[in-house]
Amino acid sequence: MSDCIFCKIANGEIPSTTLYEDEKFRVILDLGPATKGHALILPKSHAADLFELPEETACGAMALAKKMATRMKEALHADGFNLVQNNGAAAGQTVSHFHLHLIPRYEGDGQHILWNPGTTTPEEMESVRKAVCEA
Ligand code: 5GP
Ligand code: ZN
Repeated sequence: MSDCIFCKIANGEIPSTTLYEDEKFRVILDLGPATKGHALILPKSHAADLFELPEETACGAMALAKKMATRMKEALHADGFNLVQNNGAAAGQTVSHFHLHLIPRYEGDGQHILWNPGTTTPEEMESVRKAVCEA
């Protein structure tokens, strides 16, 4: 994708602060970090989102997330860690190249990455189960 900024960053055409790189992925620091150390795992091959991502790349991204989160939590003395991955504008995706957020968390960091719990009913839960499982 010639006009995709994350393709250019992932493949080194645009410089970035890189924490890790291999044949398939680059891990960079986010320019608008939620917390100190907020990073992004970028596959070097373009996929707009999770739905376009080859399964093998999805597996590789999660394995790399485990490795990076373990290393970053220790190195940055984080108290916790969020993995966040947005798909579609409705879910907050602003860059249409799959990326997995690595967000170290610190006690009292003031971030609001969790959701407000809603309510449901047994009927709604059953209708969701049917829609997903019997499709
Ligand atoms: P999204 O909202 O799509 O899940 O996340 C996009 C992320 O990319 C945001 O956290 C934003 O700060 C980050 N971002 C956008 N443009 C750039 C850039 O050019 N360089 C870097 N390092 N991060 C970027
Ligand atoms: Zn791309």
